[in-house]
Amino acid sequence: MSNKAWLSQYPAEVPSSFDYPNIPITRFLIDAAERYPKTIALDFMGKRMTYRAVLAAARRFANALLGLGVAKRDRVALMLPNCPQMVIAYYGTLMTGAIVVMTNPMYSKRELEHQLRDSGAAVIVTLDQLLKRVEQVSEDVPLNRIIVTSIRDYLPFPLNVLFRIKQKKEGTSLRIAYDDRILSFRRLLDGALEAPIEPRIDPAADLALLQYTGGTTGLAKGVMLTHRNLVANTIQSRLWFYKAQEGMERYMCALPFFHVFGLTTLLHLGIYTAGTLILVPRFEIKQVLSTIRKKKPSIFPGAPTMYIAIINHAEGKQHWLSSIRICISGAAPLPLQVQEKFEALTGGKLIEGYGLTEASPVTHVNNIWERRKNGSIGIPIPDTEARIVRPDTLEDVRPGDIGELAVRGPQVMQGYWQKPGETEKVLRDGWLLTGDLGTMDDDGFCYILDRRKDLIIAGGYNIYPREVEDVLYEHPLIAEAAVAGVVDPYRGETVKAYIVLREGAKLSPEELRFWCKDKLAAYKIPKLFEFREALPKTMAGKVLRRVLVEEENERAKGG
Ligand code: AMP
Repeated sequence: MSNKAWLSQYPAEVPSSFDYPNIPITRFLIDAAERYPKTIALDFMGKRMTYRAVLAAARRFANALLGLGVAKRDRVALMLPNCPQMVIAYYGTLMTGAIVVMTNPMYSKRELEHQLRDSGAAVIVTLDQLLKRVEQVSEDVPLNRIIVTSIRDYLPFPLNVLFRIKQKKEGTSLRIAYDDRILSFRRLLDGALEAPIEPRIDPAADLALLQYTGGTTGLAKGVMLTHRNLVANTIQSRLWFYKAQEGMERYMCALPFFHVFGLTTLLHLGIYTAGTLILVPRFEIKQVLSTIRKKKPSIFPGAPTMYIAIINHAEGKQHWLSSIRICISGAAPLPLQVQEKFEALTGGKLIEGYGLTEASPVTHVNNIWERRKNGSIGIPIPDTEARIVRPDTLEDVRPGDIGELAVRGPQVMQGYWQKPGETEKVLRDGWLLTGDLGTMDDDGFCYILDRRKDLIIAGGYNIYPREVEDVLYEHPLIAEAAVAGVVDPYRGETVKAYIVLREGAKLSPEELRFWCKDKLAAYKIPKLFEFREALPKTMAGKVLRRVLVEEENERAKGG
């Protein structure tokens, strides 16, 4: 059992335990709108919406969904970037008791199809620019409504006009033929009531979110998170960020809400603390820098690559960044130089934390204002326990030894959607096996060394080698394929494919990239290819990806 050494490291202001309210996550928005109706909740490129207006729109959306026959426990997919419609559709969907399924707008038709089929989503909310891809999904997917919106609808004048002109020029301005299946988001909202909806939700049992994450088996699995999981993780994070002030903070929303890190630290925590969410649809460095200058965010959660990009582009613009006080880096290891440079640049704090989708996601964070340990992911947040165990027996390893990080707390998922076998592998007696290998020191600080699962994280995006391999294996000229992450100075890792061609066959990297193009999101397509005679394998014929990576590392060292 854990000895909870980390408790001695807690700041005096942070309790180690808390009595979490038994509420659905939507109460955060309702409470904020009651207490701060006129505070700006959303700022999207200068278009601002108050808490009162966001709540009204979310209620209209909820009533519209009910009108379409959406009921408690139905699944509603959202395929949207960070924009006001995402916030409205997210909270509106949850108000009906339905379950949100987040989908990445960069997904290919194939990835989207898997997620829609697996979750059984009946409704999807998406952008006009993405409609074509959604319409292509095969007919056996149980999707019966597509709600379409446009970025333009929530842009201020004259940006909305400029956007329309740009779309026309690019030929992406679409004339949408609305019918019973394809519905307009705007018209739905206009035609719906603003009346509050009170479905009976049991926060501890009812699911709020199916959040897809990959696994060693290749295809993504739906992580089941209840209202209680999400409420707890938001409050746990809030307790840790005890200096954040209610109704005062400005959150830089560069992390996408469709990933659980952005969802919890921005869309939940931001609204729970009645802050202003400054939205950008994607991380584009010039836009982010000018948004920071104009909008002066105080809190900025991000992935290491985001902070690296800022360091690389901020020369002479230091004064633009002086509003930033609190940054939490997660999703991948944070290099020490990046942390130091960023703090010198902004005068704020950048600390490393850790989490995973299966834990809503935050479990560890360094102490923000006092002690922290470089290279460590920090200590467990309130009500969270951690152990380093032997994955086979679940016994604690000796202090300081390497083992698998296991965590327990109110933020841990219920399991994988319709996959009890997969759930059993990672959830044991309330302990979640994270799949990450690491150590814990005498003060309870944890250090992540390697991933047990072969997840590749390139530029903050997760890539599961098996999924890329599956696409490569479909090529008629490929005999064998293995995919691994190799070190990349900017993206952390980059995707490399090792290929064995069929006898006499010839293929170029360009041809292979083209093959992957409409089957995988751009960030998953291998940047590097190596053609080989054979791949290293176990006795059972399983390809040894680790050996490939080790060879690569040796070569990089000049060995
Ligand atoms: P996801 O489920 O997409 O949030 O990915 C979770 C995985 O990201 C974890 O299991 C870790 O492998 C990795 N990860 C998250 N935070 C860190 C960190 N600070 N250092 C190293 N790896 C991390």
